[in-house]
Amino acid sequence: MSWIVTVDKDKCDGDGACVENCPVEVLELDADGKADPVNMEECLGCETCMEVCETGAINVEEE
Ligand code: SF4
Repeated sequence: MSWIVTVDKDKCDGDGACVENCPVEVLELDADGKADPVNMEECLGCETCMEVCETGAINVEEE
């Protein structure tokens, strides 16, 4: 099963909660300080990133 992680960059406030809490380091902050799913093939679909994102910027869905 594979997952698609998307970040709404307009909503992302760059607090890094998703980066810190993803168990498999899917997300990094990009040059603009916004979350970027750089390692999506490792995603487990756990939705932790969605739960810790206070601005609702992240969506995880089954491919
Ligand atoms: S769903 Fe889980 S594994 Fe996938 S990016 Fe979010 S925190 Fe990481």
